[in-house]
Amino acid sequence: MRAAFITENGGPEVIKYGELEKPRPKYGEVLVRLSYASLNHVDIWVRRGIGGYKTPFPHVLGADGAGLIEAAGPGVEEVKEGDSVVLYPLIVDRSCRLCVSGREDQCINRKLLGNQAEGTYAEYIAVPAYNAIRLDGIDEKLAAAIPVTFMTAWHSLVTLAKLRPSETVLVWGASGGLGSAAVQIAKTLGATVIATAGGEEKSRFVEGLGADHVIDYRSADVVRSVMEITNGQGVDVVFENVGASTWVQSIRSLSPTGRLVTPGATTGKDVPLDVRDLYTRQITLMGAYGGTKAELIRVLKLVRAGKLKPFISRVVPLSKASEAHKDMEEGKVTGKVVISIAE
Ligand SMILES: [Zn+2]
Repeated sequence: MRAAFITENGGPEVIKYGELEKPRPKYGEVLVRLSYASLNHVDIWVRRGIGGYKTPFPHVLGADGAGLIEAAGPGVEEVKEGDSVVLYPLIVDRSCRLCVSGREDQCINRKLLGNQAEGTYAEYIAVPAYNAIRLDGIDEKLAAAIPVTFMTAWHSLVTLAKLRPSETVLVWGASGGLGSAAVQIAKTLGATVIATAGGEEKSRFVEGLGADHVIDYRSADVVRSVMEITNGQGVDVVFENVGASTWVQSIRSLSPTGRLVTPGATTGKDVPLDVRDLYTRQITLMGAYGGTKAELIRVLKLVRAGKLKPFISRVVPLSKASEAHKDMEEGKVTGKVVISIAE
């Protein structure tokens, strides 16, 4: 099968395009002929081999994908051949203490597609049938742009930060895949959204997503703007995911008893922490990673209802995965980049 894969860690140039052996579904697994995949920042970490993302080679990248079930292995009942599906990107054991308590996002045997398991930048993938969710009307191209970003944003804002309609949230990097999902989800909940974006074009895009206030972080002081907008109160929730370059501003933007939730750190992982901020203002710091299948199903329902919609800025052929990585790494991407597997 054709695939975009790596045989060493490094820059975008290490992504090769060529033939790999087609996987075979084992007991309880399905073979999915992928039509689309999409890029996420985690793909870059895996490719670079940093932050604990080490894989055996050759390794197929990609956590997001959608396609048709071509074959079902023995023991599969949930889905059947010919079903159009999107993949829940975490392979979980469904039996550990965390899975049983409803926190499969933290499964002790968790494997993220394209990280500890083979990924979606390929014609075929074999996954547990549990990971194949029938699309029931959602287009496969759109579906491939949903799971990682929307599920993570939902898990962060709804499940963990418990954002309420009366509250205000600050969303960093709102023009990216994850940030744009967070803006839409926060608006769906009825919250007031203050979003940041870099430059006029990206700011207009974020306004179009429904953000109530957009701060161009290149020309404005974000903390001062947040305080003006909130009458000096600060925001109830900060949706981070940028890390080193925004952390201090995030903490300063929080109101007393505010919550900061972060599902990533694209600009660096080391951040200062003044413990007095935790106890004097009683703020809460939360980390998010992925989400549960139930959360993804809820998101898909809202997509079907027209309430959420990933913004796909570009569709590239599988053979151009390397170029797409380069653009994403250089911050040239608005919304999501989708990879067309069939070319
Ligand atoms: Zn588990």
